[in-house]
Amino acid sequence: MSEKPIGVAVLGLGNVGTEVVRIIEESAADLEARIGAPLQLRGIGVRRVAKDRGVAEELLTDDIEKLVSRDDVDIVVELMGPVEPARKAIMAALERGKSVVTANKALMAQSTGELAQAAEKARVDLYFEAAVAGAIPVIRPLTQSLAGDSVVRVAGIVNGTTNYILSAMNDTGASYESALADASALGYAEADPTADVEGYDAAAKAAILASIAFHTRVTADDVYREGITKVSAEDFASAKALGCNIKLLAICERLVSGKGKHRVSARVYPALVPLDHPLASVNGAFNAVVVEAEAAGRLMFYGQGAGGAPTASAVMGDVVMAARNRVQGGRGPRESKYAKLPIASIGAIPTRYYVNMNVKDQPGVLSAVAAEFSRHEVSIAEVRQEGMTDPEGEPCGARIVVVTHRATDAALSDTVKALAELDVVQDINSVLRMEGSDS
Ligand code: NAP
Repeated sequence: MSEKPIGVAVLGLGNVGTEVVRIIEESAADLEARIGAPLQLRGIGVRRVAKDRGVAEELLTDDIEKLVSRDDVDIVVELMGPVEPARKAIMAALERGKSVVTANKALMAQSTGELAQAAEKARVDLYFEAAVAGAIPVIRPLTQSLAGDSVVRVAGIVNGTTNYILSAMNDTGASYESALADASALGYAEADPTADVEGYDAAAKAAILASIAFHTRVTADDVYREGITKVSAEDFASAKALGCNIKLLAICERLVSGKGKHRVSARVYPALVPLDHPLASVNGAFNAVVVEAEAAGRLMFYGQGAGGAPTASAVMGDVVMAARNRVQGGRGPRESKYAKLPIASIGAIPTRYYVNMNVKDQPGVLSAVAAEFSRHEVSIAEVRQEGMTDPEGEPCGARIVVVTHRATDAALSDTVKALAELDVVQDINSVLRMEGSDS
């Protein structure tokens, strides 16, 4: 067994950092046996250095640059958060030949190229398993276990906050606003929930998954994104009637054109999911990722997508890998971007749609609506119509729900524009995609 300890610097002592430090300290003997050398905590970077932080005060420092530059630090574990100062700290660490482990999805979705190049130049590891879906191993299965297969699709529920809100709406019939208020009160949503509810967090994870799955550099800006703020209690009622749930999905797909050209689509939006699809029953703050590969078929990964201890589990897996590589003199897989596939625009993506609209209750309405779908070559799979009454109980029009067969986003957008201009259509209440069914 190697005598030389592996020095670790942890940047951040928040939800995740605290758990990582705890595991390094409490599991020291096991970690040493697995790595072949002891892991030694050299320092912890924080903003506030104080006695009351539950760790030896001499480990704490607010001088991040000095900490990551120390000669006795081999691995830097970045758990601070925003893109800056994390990017600067990671670049400094890589340039000084330290291996880096990070859970920072926003950073990895934006700056993978720069960081991967620096890791390559220094011939060190850059691992980020915890950046997508917390405890759930999905980066390593994609980069290693499936390295000999061809991934076709990765679809997942990768944001626990929005899944908690949507699950509550499905279970209780609550409005979006009321479900969000409950999620905030219970600590499932941040004081500013924008990154979660507008889909930015899921888009960052989709970019990371698409990059790895399709060997193409995809950034968060390449990901089409819609959040959940417009999903209504009425959408859930309609979804139930259609045998569906509504989930915020991150979808990464390799599309093949008629001429055999491959493109990548990465997108995030709320979608109706048939109840017999494995993602329909992933509820509460849980995450799940379904991977479809040519030879392996469908694989599903499910578990806790956030939280200090679950996320620390994924971080520590990376730390042990990086430490073993230090001891044994090897390196993990590098960034693979050889395929360089073009990104498909959302307008070209074929999916099924659900359109919910209020119409006048008069003869010929249904045929006028159907004619617009037909004129734009969007084929209708199912139509439901119900009468509506005003608060006094008087009839006041009708609601029509249309579910289409597969159509491109561009064709559907044109259809919806044309429907909105029809005299008989009073309001387009919502347009959602339907995923997970083939027709
Ligand atoms: P957190 O609780 O907000 O903790 C952040 C820590 O970083 C704090 O200890 C803070 O120091 C330190 N820090 C922030 N800015 C700093 C600066 N400029 N200089 C020095 N220290 C600084 O965050 P977290 O929830 O543990 O998340 C950490 C990372 O993991 C983020 O990238 C997050 O996206 C990712 N992640 C988190 C989860 C999760 O469930 N929480 C899941 C997956 C991934 P002070 O304590 O002194 O303020």
